[in-house]
Amino acid sequence: MSTRKTKSTSAPHRQSQGNSDFRNRKKHREKSLGDLKNIRRSMPQLHAGVPTSQPAIILKEGREKSLLRRHPWIFSGAVECVNGAPANGDTLPVRGAQGEFLAWAAYNSGSQITARVWSWLETEKIDADFFRKKIICALATRKDLQLAQHSSGMRLIHGESDGLPGLIADQYGDVLVMQVGSAGAERWRDTCADILQDLCNPACIYERSDSDSRTLEGLELRNGVLRGILPDNVEVLEHGLRFMVNVAAGQKTGFYLDQRDNRALTEKLARDKDVLNCFCYTGGFSLYALRGGAKSVLSIDASGEALRLAEENLARNSLDAARAEWQEADVFQALRKLRDQGRSFDLIILDPPKFAPTAAFAEKAARGYKDINLLGFKLLRPGGILATYSCSGGISEELFQKIIAGAALDAGVDAQIIYHLHASADHPVLLSFPEGAYLKGLVLRAGL
Ligand code: SAH
Repeated sequence: MSTRKTKSTSAPHRQSQGNSDFRNRKKHREKSLGDLKNIRRSMPQLHAGVPTSQPAIILKEGREKSLLRRHPWIFSGAVECVNGAPANGDTLPVRGAQGEFLAWAAYNSGSQITARVWSWLETEKIDADFFRKKIICALATRKDLQLAQHSSGMRLIHGESDGLPGLIADQYGDVLVMQVGSAGAERWRDTCADILQDLCNPACIYERSDSDSRTLEGLELRNGVLRGILPDNVEVLEHGLRFMVNVAAGQKTGFYLDQRDNRALTEKLARDKDVLNCFCYTGGFSLYALRGGAKSVLSIDASGEALRLAEENLARNSLDAARAEWQEADVFQALRKLRDQGRSFDLIILDPPKFAPTAAFAEKAARGYKDINLLGFKLLRPGGILATYSCSGGISEELFQKIIAGAALDAGVDAQIIYHLHASADHPVLLSFPEGAYLKGLVLRAGL
């Protein structure tokens, strides 16, 4: 109290003298700051206890949590600063706000995901041996699954879930297709191709680095042979069915390997049924349904090219073409047309493309899923089965089930879930990376 009084009574005097004091102090401070800047310039700078000349990614306070849970992505919003002048694709240490080591990660300034983790081990060297070790491990997992007993096609490397962010490798007989989707994987592309060539000895390694996600990563699109010679015809054998694979121009790496087990399930559900297969691509679900004894299969896709291959696949497997009808159309319109014609089916498959690549697209995607599923339920006969899928990373399993429940309600159908489905086992999901569980499916039976 007494101090405050003293201050206020002496204020006018202090103020007049204070102005010149202030100016002097400011001058002095500016000079000192200049000196300090000069001194700093000649010294290695420090951030979080680490010299800033050493390339490193330093996270904001508290943003190390997801890394401690071993999630492999570092979003730009979590980054406090990037030391040094690293190039995209460089491997950098990632450090917490106190300078503690968290992981080795591949840097990409041009992506929302600033870095993707290669390793959590400080002593690890990210070199050719590291990739060899990881690829051997991924191949061993597939070998243990014993898929080769019934299928010549399988996913050998599944990106983040196999500890190799951005790298996909699919096998179709003796052809491998690589897809490179991150700056880090891009840097090690040739090393990985050499390792795959050495370990798998394929006739060809083809690169399909032309998906939209590469544009998001600021990478140019690439499509071509990496090693060997691409055979004229690439075929994959799946549970005894033969499918032609258009490696150079087909969708994804040419075939949807993730639906292998779900297609096999369809075969068991199809006997004596009138089947509608929407988004049929090269006829996957349709051929299984026909082999399973379906009475009729109407297959719809917007791609004429895919449908031509589907018909060729049907012929290759000597299945009864008289029971199959192929329609080139937009499914959203085709379903309405079928409804207006009063058509109905015993088994309907809906396997649309990715409506929501990320959660930002979830709302729009939800409307799309609701629309086709509502129409699907309306076209279903009492006791009929709807097998419905979403491969959108931005739609969770829970949300997908809610959308389907809404569609059934609006269609006036009581339905039971008889199967919860996911991608085949060669598409594993790393526990710490739930985004890996992009494919979900529900098989529902409509009430009688
Ligand atoms: N079920 C298939 C994979 C489906 S992929 C399999 O097991 O192999 C999705 C397919 O949807 C692609 O073939 C694509 O051409 C098709 N497609 C995308 N949008 C479409 C639309 N609006 N109408 C019809 N087909 C569409």
